[in-house]
This record gives sequence, structure tokens and C-alpha cells, in this order.
Amino acid sequence: MYKELNPPRRILMGPGPSDVHPKVLQAMANPLVGHLDPAFLEIMNETMDLLRHVYQTENKVTLAMSGTGSAGMETLFVNLVEPGDRVIIGVNGLFGQRMVDVASRCGAEVIQVEASWGDIIEPEKIEDALKKHNNVKLVAVVHSETSTGVRQPLEELSEIVHKYDALFVCDMVTSLGGIPTKIDEYKIDAAYSGTQKCLSAPPGLAPVTLSPRAVDVLAKRKNKVQSWYLDLSMIQNYWNEERFYHHTAPISMVYSLREALRLIVNEGLEQVFKRHALYGGALQAGLEAMGLELLVSEKHRLHQLTAVQIPANVSDLEVRKRLLEKYGLEIGGGLGVLKGKIWRIGLMGYNARHENVVFALAALEDVLREQGYHFISGAALEAANRYIRDHE
Ligand SMILES: *Cc1c(COP(=O)(O)O)cnc(C)c1O
Repeated sequence: MYKELNPPRRILMGPGPSDVHPKVLQAMANPLVGHLDPAFLEIMNETMDLLRHVYQTENKVTLAMSGTGSAGMETLFVNLVEPGDRVIIGVNGLFGQRMVDVASRCGAEVIQVEASWGDIIEPEKIEDALKKHNNVKLVAVVHSETSTGVRQPLEELSEIVHKYDALFVCDMVTSLGGIPTKIDEYKIDAAYSGTQKCLSAPPGLAPVTLSPRAVDVLAKRKNKVQSWYLDLSMIQNYWNEERFYHHTAPISMVYSLREALRLIVNEGLEQVFKRHALYGGALQAGLEAMGLELLVSEKHRLHQLTAVQIPANVSDLEVRKRLLEKYGLEIGGGLGVLKGKIWRIGLMGYNARHENVVFALAALEDVLREQGYHFISGAALEAANRYIRDHE
């Protein structure tokens, strides 16, 4: 006999998954309906409408792929790229590297434009690459690089990419529902995201959006999309009026996404962005008041994910282990070249609240004190609260 499932209670303030909103958990407990039931078709339609609102777009093809954020990444590359196509990818962290891997597997000729982990990709460097190589089909960057906490500016980059007649593709996994995505305003041709970051739903769906221009590129492909499961030309027909059966939508996950989006839209998109900025900024002020250094310069820092440098003589693993054991608090470690050098603290979606800022700062103070790290007791909380007073 196995015991009943009883996972520990955690506060998930790492790079994802983040805590799921209680109402989203409740929504998932609803009974199933068939995936072609008129009631479910209505739910799919509403989910698409809500997605358009949160993505800030009117793109018709705005739907949720079955799979996590990485499935969204793979969807865009596998559909927009054909063997031999030339693509430019900005690499300033792990997820840029992953895009390079995925695009290469699609048979693309990949040109990498690199920056150090913690910096943005300078638009001029992308322009240099576009000048040097003709016939570039698409340019892709990560909007919120979760491995470093960098926020990539998009507006100028989009103009450059379109000047050279390429498609502009963005990873918005940690952006959607956390910071403005402005798909239409910035003329982003295609973007993908995931449910487990700022949407505060479990991992399992990958919302994607494609501009009419990107849809046109898809329609004009010479070869069939090599992935049957992620072939948007068929998936589109499942999500639109035709309701052409492709694969069974993960019903409960669609419930969760609809509820997560509903909560965001009801709170108001601008208010949601403000909340992330306010509490993310407060956490950052608190960390700095403890004498800790942040990886990213203020100008390019994300609010929903903060990379903080691990002080000398403090054990990365020990601190994270103590936070988990003593407080049930999960924060993330560094990846790749930043392994052992940074912690990553997320304040995403439902977690972007005052109580989580206070809790994380207090828990970190306690555990850092155990490690012999010196700082002024209570300064973090005071700085965080001052930040909130000044910015509310
Ligand atoms: C989390 C993340 C992904 C991958 O999403 P999964 O849900 O883990 O597949 C891709 N890109 C970025 C920027 C992410 O933060």
C-alpha cells in the first residue's frame, strides 16, 4: 500500500514554477467535459480572447500549445523555419542557447549574436549581423531572460529586424502576465510563453501568438512541418471555427489557463504590471540594503525575477537547503556560467505581494546570519517598505 499523496507545502519563489493561485487550483478540480463538447468549445474561445488581451494583440492565431514553455519555443521554430533557412539568435543566457539548439535541429543555419550573461543584446550588434548576412528569415531574442534577470528592450530591435524584412520572434515565457508584451505595438511577429511563470498556473501549456505575416510564412512553406504534434497549420484548425480534431486538448489545463487569465484581466493588466514592478522593486531595494549585489544594472533589470550575487564565504547549496527546510521557501540557483554565483528570486503572478517580499527578506536574513554573513539587522525590511511607500 502506498500512502496518500501528500506533497510538502512550499512557497515557490524561484525561476518557476511559481505558486499557483488558489482559484486556479480550484478551477482545475472541475469535472471534465469532452474536448468537442459545445461547452468546451466556448471555453477555448474565451481562453483565446483572454490570451489576446494579456498578450496585447489582435492576432487571430493566439492559442495554447499542449506542453510547457519549451514546447512553445519548439512550436515557433519548427513551424517558421525550414531546413537551410538562415536565422539570427540573441544569446545572453540559457534560454537563448536553447533557442540555438532548437533552431539547429530544424536544420537552420544559425548566426549567434552574443552578450555576457547579465547584459542585454545591443540592437546594433543584431543590425551588424543583418548587414553581414543576407536573406535572414527570422531574428529571435529572449524578452525576459530568466537565467539572468535581464529585460531585453524590444522596440528598436523590432524596427531593425523589419528594415531587413525578417520576422521578429520573442521568448516571452517569463514576460506574459508580468510585464507588457505589446505584441502589436512593437510589431512582434511571433511569441511564445508558458503557464508556470507569471500566469500562476501549473506548467503544462504554452500560449503562442503569430502575426498575419508569420501565418503567411507558415502557409507558404515548401516542406511539411517535421513535427506532427506541433504543426500549427493543423492545430489552428482545431482551435478555430473548424474544430478539426487533432489531439485531445488537456482539458483541466485549459480550465487552469482560463481562470489564470480571467484573474489577470479582472485585476486589470496595467495594475498587474504595476504590482510586479512595485514588489519586485521593493525586494531588490531590500536585498541591496543587506549589502547584497544584484547581477543586472537597474536599467535592464526584471522585476519578476531578480538575480542576486552570492557573497563570498557563503555556501550556495547550504543557504538554499536551509531556506527550504526551515521556511519551505524555494529560490533558484544559477545556471551555466552563473552556477554557484547567483541566486534567482522570483516574484511572479500571485506571488508578487507584500507578504512574500517580507517573508523572503526575513528568511534570507536568518539563513545568511547562520552562515556568518554580516549586515545591519532589519535594514532590508525597512528599505523594502520605504520603496513601497515611495512608489505606491
Ligand atoms: C522557463 C522558461 C522556458 C522554458 O519553459 P518550460 O516550462 O520549463 O519548458 C523558456 N524560456 C524562458 C525565458 C523561461 O523562463
